[in-house]
Amino acid sequence: MKILLKGGRIVDPSQNIDSTMDILIEGDTISRIENTIDPVAGAQVFDLKDKVVSPGLIDMHTHLREPGFEYKETIRTGSEAAVAGGFTAIACMANTEPVNDNRSITEFILKQARLADMAHVYPVAAVSKGLKGKTLAEFGELKDAGAVALSDDGNPVEDSGLMKNALEYAYSLGMPVISHCEDKGLASGGVMNEGLVSTLLGLQGIPNIAEDIMTSRDIAIAGYTGTSVHISHVSTAGSVRAVREAKKMGIKVTAETAPHYFALTDDALKGYSTDFKMYPPLRSREDTEAIMAGLQDGTIDAIASDHAPHSTIEKDVEFDYAANGIIGLETSLSVSMKLVDEGILSLGQLIEKMSTNPAAILKIPKDTLQKGATANITVIDTHKVWTVDSERFRSKSRNTPFQGWQLKGKAVLTIVSGKVKYSEMG
Ligand SMILES: [Zn+2]
Repeated sequence: MKILLKGGRIVDPSQNIDSTMDILIEGDTISRIENTIDPVAGAQVFDLKDKVVSPGLIDMHTHLREPGFEYKETIRTGSEAAVAGGFTAIACMANTEPVNDNRSITEFILKQARLADMAHVYPVAAVSKGLKGKTLAEFGELKDAGAVALSDDGNPVEDSGLMKNALEYAYSLGMPVISHCEDKGLASGGVMNEGLVSTLLGLQGIPNIAEDIMTSRDIAIAGYTGTSVHISHVSTAGSVRAVREAKKMGIKVTAETAPHYFALTDDALKGYSTDFKMYPPLRSREDTEAIMAGLQDGTIDAIASDHAPHSTIEKDVEFDYAANGIIGLETSLSVSMKLVDEGILSLGQLIEKMSTNPAAILKIPKDTLQKGATANITVIDTHKVWTVDSERFRSKSRNTPFQGWQLKGKAVLTIVSGKVKYSEMG
């Protein structure tokens, strides 16, 4: 099987390339990348004039819901949504049922991913047994089974002593710890951002400090122990500030945000739609601006979807009772393209935050368009204008806040290990 990608604009921050070139894929490998490659016998040819060829995008924060909640999503439907959104690899969180806190669940996830044969799936295992925050899971065994990182995501690790032990144990094994920063006491009872809008709507608010305090705590623990920590879904100006200061001090902290934290504010909740309810909540204009500044100056290393599928059973209820979370795999790239259009990031910087940096943080093989590399490739049509229609999603769930949005820029061809897994290329 040979594929020839002709005339695309190759943007690969991993090797500082931004120029028009051809790529030949043979089997699962990039066999040539040259200014011009003449037609090769038997190769499927894609004319990529005016398209961008990127190393495969990597979403480091998704919830695939299997095992336990297959009515929301399965590893198959989630990885189909991933390739449709341009992702050749995704990392999935441990809050399944049973929780991914042991070898057999990690192995089950990897087996289901192999059967689905879509995107590469990297399991993130739990920090604590049952996500209960009491006893650490067996990190060594989980690493052996194929888990790449550790997180109690969905829950914070409330006990600071346990978090300290987790960071030290994980660091000794070379495994990143991904922290869901939430002070339960401060967030308690809240369903949206605390501010003018929550007052207007009469909904209980969650103050920024519920996130800020835990971000600062985890940075303090990483600094004290000389270990590293990754802060997930940054939503507040305070978290951005804390991460920026910590990086200046040489503390090994990395951070991600999600597209909704720069594309939306808590104003969006004025219609009480539960498709705008997630944790952390949509914040104020001041916060979204701080997040964009943090993306621009490198404080925030990565953009991840925090794809969190829920069925209508959990979402078509009163706001107070609705589940937290929105889906994002099929809109993440397009919503993030707004940062390029507005001049906040270059296209290369966006690709860095959606491919190169997530790979480095997770310590998984980075996608790169070098000769000899595995052919994980995303082709982006930066001019394509399309309207979000959740009925057309590959995901099993429909809980998107971007329904009906007109977006510019879209993945139109996704190649995983040399095989076309998604194509809008006619
Ligand atoms: Zn979380």
